[in-house]
Parts: sequence; C-alpha cells; structure tokens
Amino acid sequence: MRLIEELTENAGQVQQQVLMEILTRNTDTEYLRGFLHGIRDVHHFKKTVPVVDYEQIKPYIDRIANGEPSNIISSQPVTELLTSSGTSGGQPKIMPTTAEELDRKTFFYNLLIPVMNQYVEGLDQGKAMYLLFVKPEMSTPSGLTARPVLTSYYKSNHFRHRPLNKFNIYTSPDDTILCQDSKQSMHCQLLCGLVQRPEVLRVGAIFASALLRAIKFLEDHWKELCMNIRTGEVSEWITDDRCRAAVLKVLSKPDSELAGLIEMECSKDSWEGIIKTLWPRTKYIDVIVTGSMAQYIPLLEFYGGGLPLVSTMYGSSECYFGINLKPLSSPSGVSYTLLPNMAYFEFLPVDHDCSTLGHEDDQVAQAQALSNGSLDSLQTQVVDLVDVKLGHCYELIVTTYTGLYRYRVGDILMVTGFHNAAPQFQFMQRRNVVLSIDTDKTSEEDLLKAVTQATLLLKPHGYILTEYTSYADTSSLPGHYVLFWELKAKGRKVIDREVMENCCMAVEERLDSVYRRCRRRDNSIGPLEIRVVQCGAFDELMDFCVASGSSVNQYKTPRCIKTKAAIQVLEGMVVGRFFSREAPFWEPLRLIGNAQV
Ligand code: AMP
Repeated sequence: MRLIEELTENAGQVQQQVLMEILTRNTDTEYLRGFLHGIRDVHHFKKTVPVVDYEQIKPYIDRIANGEPSNIISSQPVTELLTSSGTSGGQPKIMPTTAEELDRKTFFYNLLIPVMNQYVEGLDQGKAMYLLFVKPEMSTPSGLTARPVLTSYYKSNHFRHRPLNKFNIYTSPDDTILCQDSKQSMHCQLLCGLVQRPEVLRVGAIFASALLRAIKFLEDHWKELCMNIRTGEVSEWITDDRCRAAVLKVLSKPDSELAGLIEMECSKDSWEGIIKTLWPRTKYIDVIVTGSMAQYIPLLEFYGGGLPLVSTMYGSSECYFGINLKPLSSPSGVSYTLLPNMAYFEFLPVDHDCSTLGHEDDQVAQAQALSNGSLDSLQTQVVDLVDVKLGHCYELIVTTYTGLYRYRVGDILMVTGFHNAAPQFQFMQRRNVVLSIDTDKTSEEDLLKAVTQATLLLKPHGYILTEYTSYADTSSLPGHYVLFWELKAKGRKVIDREVMENCCMAVEERLDSVYRRCRRRDNSIGPLEIRVVQCGAFDELMDFCVASGSSVNQYKTPRCIKTKAAIQVLEGMVVGRFFSREAPFWEPLRLIGNAQV
C-alpha cells in the first residue's frame, strides 16, 4: 500500500521516468529512429512520434511474426505475441510482449490483494474459487508463440511457481486451469470448487461473462458433478491425464452427504442466490463488471444473492493499466487508478458524449500530416496522465516497454477523481464497439457489412431492408445478438422463415473471427436472432428518441439501442422472430504475419 501511495503521489515524475527509460532503451529501434533520428528527448518524442492505430504498427508486428529481429520496435527480444480480442481486418490483433513484461504483470497482480485486504477481512482463512482458462495457441512462421494474454500468464513460471501464501490459494489445481479442453477444464474446476466448498471465501473469473458461463455449465451438469462427488470418481470423459490426477487428489473420497446437499440446492426451482448457497462463506464475487460486462450485472446479482461484485483491475494485451482502489464500490461507481509505472499514458480528449473527436477525420488528417511532415493533428491534442481534467472523457494512448509507441488502445475513459496525483477513471466504452457479448467486439461498420451481405438474400424474394438496429440480449445464457429489421415487401407477402433464418446465418458468417469463435468453439454466444418489425416501427423509435432529447434534424437511426425503453418500442411491434440454425464457420488456422499457421 505504501508503494501505491508513493507511485500515485509522484505520478508525474514516475511517468517522465518511464518515458525516459523506454526512450533510452528503444531510440535505436527502426520504428523510433524513423521519427527521433537518435534524439532521446521527451519533447522531441512528443513532437515527432505520431499517435497511431493498430493498422500503422501492424506491418512491424507482422515482420517480427515472420522472423525479422525484434529491434524493429523493441530493444528487448519480443518473446511472444499476444492475441487480443480486438480485431483488425476480421482477425485478432497481435501485440508484442517481452519476458520482462511478466514481472510487471506479477507486480500488478500482487497489488490487488493488499488493496482487497483493506476492505475485506480474513481472506487468509480460506481459498479463492477462481475459474481461469487457457486458450489454444499458435506458432508464427518465426516460431514465436501467439496466444491470449491470460493464457500466456497462466502458463508462465510467474504463475505456476508463484510463491504460495495464504492469500493466493485457489480451489482449482493449476493442471485444471492449464487443461486445453475448455469443457474438461470447466468440469474439473467446478468439481474442485464444490468439493472444497467450506473453504471458499471468494468466487470469481476474469470477466462476468466467464463466470456466467460457469453457472450455466453447473445448471446443465450438476447431476453429473454430484455423481462424481458421491462416488469419489471423475467422469470417464475427463481424459486429460494431468487434470484427472489433479482432481482425484482433491476428490480424495466419496462424499454422499455433500453430493446430497448440492443436489438439494441445485434442484430447487429458482437459482436465486445459488453462489451464496453453494459456497456459503463467500465474501464477494471477483469479476469485471465494467464496460461491456455491465450488461451482466442483473444476472450476477440474481445468482450472487447480494454478494458484492468486485472489479479489481483494468488491463489489456497491450499492457496492464490500473487497479480499483475502492473495490467494494457499486459497479456503476467503479474507477480505476492507472499505475504510473506500468507504461507511459497519454490521453486524447473526446467529446462529452464520448465519441472521439472525428475519428475518421483524425486519421485522414494524420495521414496527410505524416505525408507532408507536419505532425500537428492528434499529437497536439493529447495530454499527460497528470493533466487530465475531472469530468472529462479521453481515449487512452499508451507507450509501452514492449514496442508500442503512442498507440491508441481504443478505450474511452472518464476522469472521476484523483488518488494523490494520479487520476482515476471510469471505463466508458470501447471506441466504435456497438455489440459485445463475450470477448467479441462488433463495430457499427462490421455490423453494416454483415447486414448488407445478408440482405442480398432478401432481394430475390422481393423484400428490401429499410431500417435496422441491434442490441445484445443477455437476458438468457448464453447471450446473443438481436437485430430488429423493418422490411418492405413488393406486394403483400408472408415472411419466409427459411429466408430469414438464412439471413441470420449470413450475418453471422460475415462477423469477425472472434465472434465466430465465441459462437462455434466456445459456445459463449447464442444463435443470432432477427426480429422483423411492422412497417413504421422505426418511425416510432425516432419519435421516442426525439421525445427523449435527440435533435430531429440530426437524428440518425442508432445502429445499436441500449435502453430498455427504446428496445420496448420496437419489441411491441415485432411480427416475426428468426434464429440462426447453425454456428458460423470458424477455423483456428489464422493468418499471422504472411503465412498460414
Ligand atoms: P484484450 O486486448 O483482449 O485483452 O482486451 C482488452 C480490453 O478489454 C480493454 O482494452 C478494454 O476494452 C476491455 N477491458 C479490460 N479490462 C476492463 C475493465 N476492467 N473494464 C472494462 N473493460 C475492460
């Protein structure tokens, strides 16, 4: 806690030191040399190095994936590539990382427990039931591993050989977390969690969607899990040897009493408060419920039966950003304090409604500025960490130790206060993302492309799509995308079910690979639904929006609606509901660099 105080009291100096250190190490990289020409100076950096999007650094990362040396962007060797849930050209973005970054992540994780201890007593008196998972990894043409950031961390020695102290004992043996088969991993982790029920003090996963997936799994498989507990045997389909052995150690003997108790609770009609019932000593639920995960709060509150929902940290594949110093604050009041030693942070002011100031225009302006050598567009607008203003919104820009320089993360944050000199931020939204159920991030543009493609199927049947909008329906698990479509028919026609179902599938086929993976492999997104509405429904929506404050002149149909009331307007005019009949195509083979791997 003293360290947090020191870092936040000296946020400005720490940030300058971080930038100097990054520059000292990396001025001679090909990327920075092109702008700095060997001059290691903060002002020069700010004047000459452009604020960039992924597209601008992608060629450098691809070159590393294809075997060129790391010093294109980083003086330290790039040890692996992290596949982000953000996509570029329909494929996951890949971020460079270095061995040293694992130390930084470990440092970051180690700060979370002391903060929590200040608010919740006795966390050393039991265990954490954290459901953590790894995902498959790939290898790039140069032999670098590419995998998600958490997979990288859980497989690292930093995690596997973590010094065990009273605060980081998990109910899931590492071998169950590291099991590649997500179904076996889930079954085994839940089994271990149930068996160690009396010891569990906190329940969690990284994101709310993952915890809800676990609850759904429990709903579907509790009888089998109870059978395992009753017999002291693990189901035969658990074939991962290490996983099996690890679970058998936990499940040391048959326990029909525990099995009976769990069966009794799980067979009740309502699962309200099930987490508290099954793990009665639980003090809080540790899951991120900010940003797109906020849509899951009602469901988690239902299952949690009043347990506090705690979002402890904010981070990404690019780097870990900040921690929540008031973990028991209500989900809507969560703010993250960015740790000034993690990276060099800058902030691009955005409109108060949190739309970036003319993002597309910025890009054009920047491209022009780059070509005529004057970099005066985005660079001049960005401000330092300690210069952000209370109540203002910004897009986060990072310069990392791992080879990203003035990189637009794409997250929009609002300043809600300060801890010492360090600002605290509420996560507002991801730039350009309109729909998200799990790790998928669908932009308005992605949606438009997918819908446009699907409407080609309507044409031969004499329909035209006149308006559409969407929302992420998370009222049941797994959540799914809902599109409201208003159709115009040439002549009087009955809506053809098969055509509409084909449209649902066509939309899904065109959404990006993260969406398709969640749908096909992870089952974390349900079949996409199109709800056809009566003619005039979108006029009603417009009337509603105008009555709620939108300007008539500037009104544009929102491509995603978020409020219950707006959804209700269209919902009342639905004339047909259609679902995708099968999950879209997805294959793990992806293009990294220039080669199929
Ligand atoms: P990825 O690169 O796949 O690891 O995703 C990182 C992104 O997830 C961040 O840039 C945010 O958009 C989102 N994210 C991570 N942590 C949080 C959080 N605590 N609250 C809201 N969004 C988050």
